[in-house]
Amino acid sequence: MLPYPFPGPFDYRVPAGMDPQPGDVVLVPLNRREEVGVVWDASADEGVPDRKLKPLAGLIDTPPMRSELRRFVDWVAAYTLAPPGEVMAMALRVVAHGVAAPTMGWRRADPGPAARLTEARRRVLDALASQEPRATGELARIAGVGAGVVRGMADSGLLVPAVLTAVAPFAAPNPEHPGEALSSDQTAAAAVLRQAVAARVFSVTLLDGVTGSGKTEVYLEAVAECLRQGRQALVLLPEIALSSQWLERFERRFAVAPAVWHSDLPSRVRRVTWAAVAEGAASVVVGARSALFLPFPDLGLVVVDEEHETAFKQEEGVVYHARDMAVVRARICSAAAVLVSATPSLETLANVEVGRYARLTLPTRHGGAALPSVAAIDMRATGPERGQFLAPPLIEAVRATLARGEQSMLFLNRRGYAPLTLCRHCGHRMQCPNCTAWLVEHRVRRALQCHHCGHSVPIPDECPACGAANSLVPVGPGVERITEEATAAFPDARRLVMASDTMTGPHAAADAARAIEARAVDLIIGTQIVAKGWHFPHLTLVGVVDADLGLAGGDLRAAERTVQLLHQVAGRAGRAEAPGRVLLQTFSPEHPVMQALVEGDLAAFMAREAAQRRPGHWPPYGRLAALIVSADSATVADALARDLGRAAPRGDGMEVLGPAPAPLSILRGRHRRRLLLKTRRDVAVQPILRAWLGKVTTTRGARVEVDVDPLSFL
Ligand code: ADP
Ligand code: ZN
Repeated sequence: MLPYPFPGPFDYRVPAGMDPQPGDVVLVPLNRREEVGVVWDASADEGVPDRKLKPLAGLIDTPPMRSELRRFVDWVAAYTLAPPGEVMAMALRVVAHGVAAPTMGWRRADPGPAARLTEARRRVLDALASQEPRATGELARIAGVGAGVVRGMADSGLLVPAVLTAVAPFAAPNPEHPGEALSSDQTAAAAVLRQAVAARVFSVTLLDGVTGSGKTEVYLEAVAECLRQGRQALVLLPEIALSSQWLERFERRFAVAPAVWHSDLPSRVRRVTWAAVAEGAASVVVGARSALFLPFPDLGLVVVDEEHETAFKQEEGVVYHARDMAVVRARICSAAAVLVSATPSLETLANVEVGRYARLTLPTRHGGAALPSVAAIDMRATGPERGQFLAPPLIEAVRATLARGEQSMLFLNRRGYAPLTLCRHCGHRMQCPNCTAWLVEHRVRRALQCHHCGHSVPIPDECPACGAANSLVPVGPGVERITEEATAAFPDARRLVMASDTMTGPHAAADAARAIEARAVDLIIGTQIVAKGWHFPHLTLVGVVDADLGLAGGDLRAAERTVQLLHQVAGRAGRAEAPGRVLLQTFSPEHPVMQALVEGDLAAFMAREAAQRRPGHWPPYGRLAALIVSADSATVADALARDLGRAAPRGDGMEVLGPAPAPLSILRGRHRRRLLLKTRRDVAVQPILRAWLGKVTTTRGARVEVDVDPLSFL
């Protein structure tokens, strides 16, 4: 099996004296080059005569890919319809990247350059934003530039040489190191999870507990049991860059840090971590979704924390959902899987309902803290003044919180200053030239930027359509604009903005968290970053600036996702002694989503969602698979979409919706059309999709992407 999108493995002749076994990593000739591949389990294709086979070029001295991982690769490929080689590449990437490790790399010069930079040079500096030095080859690869660009930057003093960080050996976490004393609810739940791990058979348990109930402490006991069993544990987190508090808690429990895995690690660290996992030296890994493809020899536990998070879905390359594939990985390894959330997905709840997954609940907050009280602010009745976005009751509440010396948070899930810029004179709207999307103003950077393709232009002085001067006006708020308003309203408050574009690098989030814990901040203003599992004991007020935001567009899960997100943000308030309060600014306080949040009755809301989706066989009570057609021209995209439409499968319990232009009908200059296959739950979509795709031929420049169980419909 080669790490490329071929439909299957290739046959090679075994030279005398070589005895490769399935899983061995080998070098083979391919198109006059030598490539790294893995001996796969498939039997040889008898149709190919022996003399036509090329010989294996050699064995690579690295731990073989074990049968469990090979079966996992095959499973993911079959389920997602991705070429198996492309899936295998995720498990092999590390080995393929050269053998001799460089010892010197580059760091950004300090202070940063004031000079104008080429796009390529800017990308190189971005790749070094994390302060971690990187070797020339790696840096060039990440930035997508030639090595010459890197060397040129070094010559002109933009980069300075730095010794690459050595990787500390992985110390063994100590399960007997004393942890926190657990409450009786926690103790009971931990006992069940310990048992599931000790059973050494496959199981799935949902750990469902209200925000602040101490779920982490509970599943760390499952990790401890896994260590006692001598097996390895994997904890998946949706955003590893935001997990500084989690890492601190792990260290408190086990006296050492876990191995960390994500795609942004310097290659050197990746290589060492990968080898340590393969040898069993790294016994606990905390990572992003790609950690599922690490070579664990004996995986006994997989935890998926915040299992409802859409960040677990990989939308590019191999399109897979890490939560679902974590369950598959656990099954193949006879391991326990634990899915953790205060707002479980309807998919997981449906699996609990039919008895496939067990469920544990923690009904109260740890240490006697109460859940926050939630109220809606009706923006029609008590809305803000014209051109403002914070309603008087919210401003009042922030003032009162500040006066008590407690912390407040304003949440708006939108980066930048304003989502739309238009000309007051002619009505022209600033649009991305490559995408069906408005350009978002980023005032701090003085730029208009596309959030889909990254296209960025300076804010023009004149309208590009009518030429009127100073006529461009921002429409609607982003988090920068809220910050501006908050600065005027609360001039003495110490503010901190948390958004993905202002907090770059692995330390930015940790520094922010520390500043908040140390009460060096009074007012936090942020995007969805602030909804993550943070524990800020002095935060007592959360204001949601636009609670209706996620409901627009109305995809299948818009309501479910809005409830989950807003309940998670709300859950940041009042986690210690002082009670928490949450205010939702909304234009429709009567909406079931707002009602569910105000009443805190998520179970009733999810039951209602279930009742709405069940009759029409919508997920999780039916299956969906999307085909996304894209091409350089609208004509080619339309033609291919039409062909697919004509070849659409027909049958009992299935239906095809589309073709239709995608909501993002142009993305990065490509024209996009969508088709959606919808079937009953008992229908396997993969054979249908394979037969369907086999009936059409894709022309040059056109592409069909398959998304099984789509979460995004853009
Ligand atoms: P959840 O993940 O359920 O929202 P956390 O796991 O973040 O909740 O726990 C909330 C807070 O309570 C954390 O600061 C955690 O360290 C603390 N905590 C949880 N359980 C205990 C315990 N048994 N003893 C002391 N502190 C605890
Ligand atoms: Zn764009």
